[in-house]
Amino acid sequence: MSRFIVVCDVDSTLINDEVIDLLADAAGTRDAVAAITEKAMRGEIEFAESLAQRVGTLRGTSAKALDDVLGAVTVTNGARQLVHAVHEAGGYIIAVSGGFHEILDPIATQLGLDAWAANGLEVVDGAFTGRTYGPLIDAAAKANFLTSFAKKKRVPLSSTIAVGDGANDLAMMNIAGLSVGFCAKQAVREAANVNIDVRDLSLVAPFFGRRAS
Ligand SMILES: [Mg+2]
Repeated sequence: MSRFIVVCDVDSTLINDEVIDLLADAAGTRDAVAAITEKAMRGEIEFAESLAQRVGTLRGTSAKALDDVLGAVTVTNGARQLVHAVHEAGGYIIAVSGGFHEILDPIATQLGLDAWAANGLEVVDGAFTGRTYGPLIDAAAKANFLTSFAKKKRVPLSSTIAVGDGANDLAMMNIAGLSVGFCAKQAVREAANVNIDVRDLSLVAPFFGRRAS
């Protein structure tokens, strides 16, 4: 593989956490959010609706919660090594998230990712409004983000690797040259070309012919 792209999901993939759950803890809405998440996982509501409902529970909560959440989030083992290995090999590494810019931006910058996309959490007068802003990042948008980045860099989709754990990652995994389930949910495990069951992202490196160290 010469030029290639690795695209990673964020929640439970690039990071160990689900940011919406941490935000819900801060807002005191963990149970409500868990109930909505379960409905979405049973396929009773679409991602857009579940995102709107979950973010809706944050309304009125101080946006200072973002600092606490950012402090609590942990980057997955091997992420730094993976970024280094991709760049050493002349590739690009990007992330796309159904979560939020406010958390992803500092993490992506620190890791040295080449591009990323996420939803925005609207804040007015220091508190969450319970709405998102900007383009909705759902499963289709994740796939589109990979497609347009690949086009911009003139990398064929056959030279892309998509890494994810959830249903929202299936569309981008379907169009990538290689799909990697990362400690993935059952439906994703079954659809993935290969699965990594250890929380160590450096294990993606052998798929583009490198050993991360
Ligand atoms: Mg995920």
